[in-house]
Amino acid sequence: MEFFKVLKKHKHSKARLGLIKTAHGNIHTPAFLPVATKAAIKSLSPEEIKKIGFEAILSNTYHLYLQPGSKIIKKLGDLHKFMNWPGPIITDSGGFQVFSLGFGLKDKVGKILNKNIQEEQVGQQAKLARIDQAGVTFTSHLDGSHHRFTPESSIKIQEDLGADIIFVFDECTSPLANYDYTQKSMERTHQWAQRCLKAKKRNKQALFGIVQGGLFKDLRQASAKFIGDLPFDGFGIGGSFGKGEMKKALDWVIPYLPSNKPRHLLGIGYLDDIKEAVKRGIDLFDCVQPTRLARHGTFLTAQGKFSILKSVYQTDKKPISKNCSCDTCQNFNRAYLHHLFKTKEILGARLATFHNLWFISRFMEKIRRDIKEDKNIG
Ligand SMILES: [Zn+2]
Repeated sequence: MEFFKVLKKHKHSKARLGLIKTAHGNIHTPAFLPVATKAAIKSLSPEEIKKIGFEAILSNTYHLYLQPGSKIIKKLGDLHKFMNWPGPIITDSGGFQVFSLGFGLKDKVGKILNKNIQEEQVGQQAKLARIDQAGVTFTSHLDGSHHRFTPESSIKIQEDLGADIIFVFDECTSPLANYDYTQKSMERTHQWAQRCLKAKKRNKQALFGIVQGGLFKDLRQASAKFIGDLPFDGFGIGGSFGKGEMKKALDWVIPYLPSNKPRHLLGIGYLDDIKEAVKRGIDLFDCVQPTRLARHGTFLTAQGKFSILKSVYQTDKKPISKNCSCDTCQNFNRAYLHHLFKTKEILGARLATFHNLWFISRFMEKIRRDIKEDKNIG
């Protein structure tokens, strides 16, 4: 069984239609994966996720390791059985969470860099995570207990979770780190990538390497070259980017990655970014943004996003989007949704999450159709 096949190349860009085959089903790419951080897409059931049109989901090793623990999930079968999601699952390696929590700036240093952060705040990096050549010692954000991840233990945890695609353990460098530190960190990530390849025992799981290198062209290229030459089943592009820097970084690294293997842009999910990345040859995306926005009453539409909490919606009888065929838009109006969010009824979060995921699922469908028909993307 061939793991990945490029079905068609786009005439006007580097975009491609692809098919990933796993033991739990297929993924048609380019695809967006909703994030089940703690083995649940917040507020929705696996059946609803399937109904929305998603073939695969992504779950977080760091969170599942802490709670309920990968050993418990293994005892109960695997992650598919535990959460009753029969389709393909990707787990990340825990690297991003260990380090982003370690920055002590979790909400300020996201995947897209907030320029307001002052350089001196980078000093807080060591607050919760301590890194050495062998691995990372970190403090749980839940109860302050101490833990350690190494490339070997991250692979073992991901084998216990049993996802179809797993990731190497990498150091997700702060985008504020200087050249020397970024280089040192990248070299460590390269060593860890080789150790992950050696540590992997299960054949059923595909292992993806991760390209780092921060915001520096020569480091990004060196990382893509090094990681791209290793026998991985696919590749993730990691790290954070400033506005406008993501496109540059993709232009730097993609020429060095083998064209017959899938590429995952980790943690990026803004619609414009997805379009630009697809045009540069990215196949997979994951991001908490559509579901997180939904829980705060922000709806995604073709005209942009808007907050249902604004008082103008109090008596608005229109659906969120008249062109949307999701259950939320077919059955409820803005006035009712406004009320649900004002009164903090949990139904509001459910209906909003359903709509936002429906919207992004249709958005990806359109991208795949545009590639198929050689239309301009977006
Ligand atoms: Zn809708």
